[in-house]
Amino acid sequence: MKKKFIAPVALSALLVGSIPVGNVFAKPTESKAVSNVQAVKKWNEKANVPLFVKERMAEKFSSSSPANALNYLKKKENQTGIKNPDKNLKVKDTKKDQLGMTHVRFNQSVNGIPVEGSEVIVHFNKNDEVVSVNGRINQTLTEDDTVDTSAALSSDQAIKAALSAVNAPDELTYEPTSEFVVYPFEGENYTAYKVNVNFMGDEPGNWFVFVDANTGKVIDKYNGLMHADDMKTQKGVGKGVHGALRELHISQVKEPKSGTKFALADYAHKGLDGILTYDAKNDNSSANDTLYVGNSASFKGDYDRAAVDAHYNSEKVYDYYLNEHGRNSLDGKGMAIVSRVHYGNNYNNASWNGRWMTYGDGDGEFMISLSAGLDVAAHEMTHGVITNSANLVYRNQSGALNESFADVFGVLIDDEDWEMGEDIMAPAAKASGSTVLRSLSNPNSVIVANEQRRSYSTNGGVYPDHMDEFYNMPTSVDGGGVHVNSSITNHAAYLIGQEIGRHKLGQIYYRALTVYLTPNSNFSDARKAIVQSAVDLYGEGSAEVKAANAGFDAVGIY
Ligand SMILES: [Zn+2]
Repeated sequence: MKKKFIAPVALSALLVGSIPVGNVFAKPTESKAVSNVQAVKKWNEKANVPLFVKERMAEKFSSSSPANALNYLKKKENQTGIKNPDKNLKVKDTKKDQLGMTHVRFNQSVNGIPVEGSEVIVHFNKNDEVVSVNGRINQTLTEDDTVDTSAALSSDQAIKAALSAVNAPDELTYEPTSEFVVYPFEGENYTAYKVNVNFMGDEPGNWFVFVDANTGKVIDKYNGLMHADDMKTQKGVGKGVHGALRELHISQVKEPKSGTKFALADYAHKGLDGILTYDAKNDNSSANDTLYVGNSASFKGDYDRAAVDAHYNSEKVYDYYLNEHGRNSLDGKGMAIVSRVHYGNNYNNASWNGRWMTYGDGDGEFMISLSAGLDVAAHEMTHGVITNSANLVYRNQSGALNESFADVFGVLIDDEDWEMGEDIMAPAAKASGSTVLRSLSNPNSVIVANEQRRSYSTNGGVYPDHMDEFYNMPTSVDGGGVHVNSSITNHAAYLIGQEIGRHKLGQIYYRALTVYLTPNSNFSDARKAIVQSAVDLYGEGSAEVKAANAGFDAVGIY
């Protein structure tokens, strides 16, 4: 289909107007297409991606059902620009929140095939009235005659092409998966297989490869492996975590030959498939990993320490999401929380690969065992929450938001300060001035350790705290700066937190993440989502709303 239709701009933002007939589409960048640009300008001149608009006259329905959400969109076809919503939108999920609001999330689709990253959410209040709509859809795909969704390639052929495109090793973490999608990329719309390839090894990958379903060409690929950060690996020995005594939930395992053993397997939480900690045995393969097992209920050896912290911190993060947000595990459905410790050799990193956390032992010079940091564990596990909610695409601004939300919940859960990584820095690193990985309170106080990333700085190589210091990086470097530009929105969160406290900050951010944000949301969208969440929770004109606006003003995001 890409030959049939060339769109000038791939993505556009959807908004529904609060001005009487203000429902319009707006383009993020230059646009000649069908949108009502005038109305958009009235909206918000600074942000060229207006997203959020509330209905002044909410429309009441018999129930907050997906069918009624569609009915609403059908009536507003001309204002939203989403033609034929029956045909072009597919219900993804429906969620009711603690305020009694219902959020119906749609995936844009073409002939029933989902358009990658294009989602629209219709929000009902507790009286079954539609109060707002937001999201991003590809406007060029809502025409009738633009699409040929046939495929010459089989899924297996696509997987083969993907494996070779990322130099996948023979040993994969799990079977590659493929999904048939419409993929808007660099101004064209492709019919493609989205292939996920996951492996460990020297350069672990959780790759998403988009293979043209007709030519077999690789259109685009990115590594969605979410690192704590990309740090240098050096020689040395990871030694001991901080020595605190931890209470753990463990399980007895009876083995025929060796009798009773004890495993770091916690099945004490109702509705949760378990908190499980594995020993990765200092190799690069997950094939040899086994559940972490000891001879007694006491795990006090030196080698045990990294496992003890991973296990303990996992439970703390689980408890936080359950108690503060009513969320049962990373997917909200009780999925097992799996950590692997002692990964690689002297490995200065931790990651979330889409299914579990992996922690290195650190090299003992720059870092110690990364599982020692509750903020690090909270960061990695929050990536799991994000994957199962907004699913922010891991590159450019949406990727920086993914990183930023992971940091914000990192410091909300490890709540003694607003710094990331203070518990995993090795004594030598501390002595030379590297005391944290990132700082939300003062991003400028930390130097970007990676030289290549630093070369894109306009601020002397420190983490940015304002859009004026935004690092313009190609996607080939740190996914376009996901670990760097995240500091700008991190700092906004810190400023808001100073005004309203951690609890409310967490409530607002969690709501924005799970209710409003979509895969391609950018910084400006995030501001709107966060402000709207504050309005929902604390009311229009509240101190919380003012704080949210002020926080983003201060970092130059409008
Ligand atoms: Zn991360």
